[in-house]
Amino acid sequence: MLMEEYLARFVPLIKPSKGFKELKSLIIDTGLCCGCGTCVAFCSRIKMFDLPELVEACTLEQGSIKCSEEGTCYDNCPFITAEFLSYEPLGEYKKIVAARAKASEILANAQDGGVATALAIFALENNYVDAIVGVGRDEEWRARAITAKSREEVLSMVGTKYSKTPVVEEFGRVIKEEKLKKLMVIGLGCQINGIRNLQKNLLKDLVDVILIGLFCFENFPYECLREKIKEEFNLSMSEIVKVDITKGKFIVKTKSGEILKKPVKVFDPCVNDACNFCTNFSSVFSDLSVGSIGSEQGWTTVIVRTERGEKLLEEAEKAGYIEISENVDVKSIEYVAGLKRKKNAATVEKRKEEGLFIPGE
Ligand SMILES: Cc1cc2nc3c(=O)[nH]c(=O)nc-3n(C[C@H](O)[C@H](O)[C@H](O)COP(=O)(O)OP(=O)(O)OC[C@H]3O[C@@H](n4cnc5c(N)ncnc54)[C@H](O)[C@@H]3O)c2cc1C
Ligand code: SF4
Ligand code: SF4
Ligand code: SF4
Repeated sequence: MLMEEYLARFVPLIKPSKGFKELKSLIIDTGLCCGCGTCVAFCSRIKMFDLPELVEACTLEQGSIKCSEEGTCYDNCPFITAEFLSYEPLGEYKKIVAARAKASEILANAQDGGVATALAIFALENNYVDAIVGVGRDEEWRARAITAKSREEVLSMVGTKYSKTPVVEEFGRVIKEEKLKKLMVIGLGCQINGIRNLQKNLLKDLVDVILIGLFCFENFPYECLREKIKEEFNLSMSEIVKVDITKGKFIVKTKSGEILKKPVKVFDPCVNDACNFCTNFSSVFSDLSVGSIGSEQGWTTVIVRTERGEKLLEEAEKAGYIEISENVDVKSIEYVAGLKRKKNAATVEKRKEEGLFIPGE
């Protein structure tokens, strides 16, 4: 077959990739970027600033019809795939339990029952994984995605930081730069979703990953949160030792032991726009999902989704890293996950009125 004939017959059948240009116009520029870091994880042409930005020309804008990089930013973005929209609020699961770390050094600073930290330490100390990708913070509570390879480093991640950081970018970095192949990632639903997309479309079985997803109603950009905390509590971030959002209250504990509360609604203007669209409260794509709602204070609710997750939890219990209880109020988790759906419905209406892109439609 002549080359001209071949090109005329087959080239139109090759579907051109959609790339950064489309990602920017549909997601980033319309407020749907949650900052998960999936798009930057395997393409050196994009860097994460406050939002992802091109720092080098995208191959698709240089006349190519296929993305030349190891991954396509567009295809893996969780707000492009948007499969979370079709899941039941609690997703598919085997069982739901409450659990608590046994080590007092974990419980002392844990957000809830310290299960995320205990499972990470168990996995690391028993060679299930080479490293844990999670989120640490500085004195001023700036969240930073980091990789832990020791018990001490995992302990430095303990506790919830209510601000966004591109966990999936760090996941990509350890795979590319450190060539690590057995990882645990602790992250929010959007981040876990991005990693599942990368596993399916790019990594396949090259990397073995255990995914621990955190329940998540909403998250905040750091600067807005810092200013709002100053305005509402007259506190600088370095005076705070714990931040929690529970039962409609935004609660801070200070170094001097004071506990201060405001209605969480006060912080609404700071919420990431993407979070008002996201319905993935219970992190439906994880092996185990963990959260505070549904359990007594000092315990972590655990949704067991996969065999892998179930085995990890059972073995951590057998080895004495955690204890497990059946005392869980599933209705309360469903209720909060349902509220997130209502928020999404209102956001969809607003976006329709404004003529903005609506994932899944
Ligand atoms: C932004 C955010 C919103 C949340 N919203 C809810 C909610 O509405 N309802 C609810 O029940 N639970 C929510 N959670 C989960 C809850 O706060 C606890 O993280 C969870 O119960 C696990 O507690 P633990 O004691 O087992 O975790 P710990 O053992 O204290 O470990 C916490 C883990 O969280 C990770 N982490 C901390 N901050 C971040 C971050 N910004 N991004 C990604 N990972 C992070 C760390 O890597 C660490 O491994 C939220 C968490 C976050 C980060
Ligand atoms: S080269 Fe590929 S992954 Fe990189 S920006 Fe372009 S489309 Fe996205
Ligand atoms: S992949 Fe994540 S960081 Fe990139 S555009 Fe989508 S939501 Fe934003
Ligand atoms: S609400 Fe959804 S998009 Fe926002 S940080 Fe949580 S999981 Fe990500």
